[in-house]
Amino acid sequence: MTPPPTDYPLQDTASQDWDSSLSAQLYGINAWGAGYFGVSGDGQVQVNVEFDGKPVKVSIMDIVSGMHERGLHMPAILRIRNLLDHRVEVLNQSFARAIADGGYKNCYRGVYPIKVNQQCHVVEEIADYGRRFNHGFEAGSKAELIIAMSQLRDSDGLIICNGYKDAEFIELGLYAVQMGIPCFFVVESLSELPIIVERSKALGIEPLIGVRIKTTVAVDGYWSQDSGDRSIFGLSTAALMRLVDGLRDAGMLHCLRLLHCHLGSQIPNIRNVRSGVLEACRFYAGLVQEGAPMGHIDLGGGLAVDYEGARTNSTHSMNYRLDEYCANIVESICETLDPLDIGHPVIISESGRATVAYSSMLLFNILNVSNTQPTSAEEEPPEDCVETLKNLYDIQARLSTENFQECYNDALFYRDELRELFHHGTASLRERAMAENVFLQVVHRIAAMLPQLKRVPPELQDLQEQLSDIYYGNFSLFQSLPDIWAIDQLFPIMPIHRLDEKPERSAILADLTCDCDGKIDRFSTPEGERNVLPLHKFTPGQEYYLGVFLVGAYQETLGDLHNLFGDTNVVNVSVNPDGSFEFAREFQGDSIADVLSYVEYEPKQLQENFRLVAEKAVRDGKISVAQRSQIVQAFRESLHGYTYFENH
Ligand SMILES: *Cc1c(COP(=O)(O)O)cnc(C)c1O
Repeated sequence: MTPPPTDYPLQDTASQDWDSSLSAQLYGINAWGAGYFGVSGDGQVQVNVEFDGKPVKVSIMDIVSGMHERGLHMPAILRIRNLLDHRVEVLNQSFARAIADGGYKNCYRGVYPIKVNQQCHVVEEIADYGRRFNHGFEAGSKAELIIAMSQLRDSDGLIICNGYKDAEFIELGLYAVQMGIPCFFVVESLSELPIIVERSKALGIEPLIGVRIKTTVAVDGYWSQDSGDRSIFGLSTAALMRLVDGLRDAGMLHCLRLLHCHLGSQIPNIRNVRSGVLEACRFYAGLVQEGAPMGHIDLGGGLAVDYEGARTNSTHSMNYRLDEYCANIVESICETLDPLDIGHPVIISESGRATVAYSSMLLFNILNVSNTQPTSAEEEPPEDCVETLKNLYDIQARLSTENFQECYNDALFYRDELRELFHHGTASLRERAMAENVFLQVVHRIAAMLPQLKRVPPELQDLQEQLSDIYYGNFSLFQSLPDIWAIDQLFPIMPIHRLDEKPERSAILADLTCDCDGKIDRFSTPEGERNVLPLHKFTPGQEYYLGVFLVGAYQETLGDLHNLFGDTNVVNVSVNPDGSFEFAREFQGDSIADVLSYVEYEPKQLQENFRLVAEKAVRDGKISVAQRSQIVQAFRESLHGYTYFENH
């Protein structure tokens, strides 16, 4: 495999010729932004929303200023309510269009899978806005069912219960049915059947039963193991037959009303969707032929998000549009069921990622930069220095485009030799520092030659990456972007201002945790993955803000407390038709006391312990009573402060 190229296509545009549109192109925002994000002429990222076809743009920097005024500092998650509403709307409208265009004789009912983002105001917003489309919920646990039952505002919205279900789970769902909410139990394992039969007979409530099948289509992307014979979910065909027989014996086959299949998340290839739906329809037809009334087909999640904006079938992209996805599903169902004279079922989908990813972004500031820039060195080596250092200076003098490869090898050799001499005490600390500096000068000059070459030798291919800067960001990867660490997810990342300036530096990002995994060195672009991100020169004392976009799905509760960095501040912003915006909700992130109590410390006890330590220091004459008060006060303030870097 050839390593991804580390240079960016637009780097040779001169700084004075740079403008915002070149930045937009460089970071691919018009490709992955799906129309929701863009760059203004003065170089700021804007959120675009529409009111009756009239576009309204809000600069994220204006929102950041408003956050600072309210004491909500970086890092922070920014959610744009309008984007969440729009996603729910387009999902429902696209299915409605496909249904109308395809002459389909039933309707679409979307359900939002709560696990994808369980945060209260996300779920509330979907319930509220989704009501006009009868959008319901998918619950995978008792806790999620409790959310669904208490949030659903509309008795035509469905609740789909997946996951392992005990008697308590089933009773809750039966009560929902009794109250007129269409709440389906999707049987994932045969062991659930006797509990459903027993509980529904005991309570005298007829259940709505669905069954989850295993399809055998191979799916591209990261979640390929969610389908197929070895999928841990769903019934095998043999078990499915036992379920049908069991229901018939219990006199409950008429309760079997839904077929469920979930091919996996982030399906990048439309052909997989099509094959999966075709196979699911065969199962559906088979169950109708067995005598079950059915009436609902639930195609699970899987609708992808194009994180790269590349429109390909690679893992972080997708080769289809929403309209195409809906049309494919409608056509595949008609194609299978029409020849068999089976009526069209209600189409259900459980799109999570595609519903919530766009609405959230992580914002953070850069704290510091480290780079490999050499300092300017003396032209000549000192007279009396070791020979190895003189050799390094020689390379510097003879380096050219003809001999750069040989010079590179020599420079490595002499640098290592000098380090060896230092170990043995033959070279001084100052000589080692000079050697490393000359070495850097040589490799930086070589790196600058590479873009002009027709062919870059393999050993030099990641040189630019090795020489890139490290930008230290005020965030924790483990808390806020766990999928980057856990499954190599790519998210679009870019500065949210200064985009009318040329980004002259190449960098990787490091977070605040002192963990070597706490870095980002893979970046998505419409041309594919890169190992460095172009960024602007960082000037200490001037804030520089980056945004990680499309992070609304799966990131907020999978995160952990590595190094005890807690939840970040969160703001929900609602954009108005006149271009103003409101902070609809704001949430302070965890304090240090909060995260310490998660790991079983008692903040009051910590304070008391510390008071005793300070008291002893007074007794021992180390500090005065006045100093003691000051120290105890500082301790208390820290305990109740933010877990991230604060510079205010
Ligand atoms: C995770 C999950 C979903 C959500 O999938 P997305 O790809 O995020 O839309 C839907 N249904 C089931 C059963 C799931 O496990």
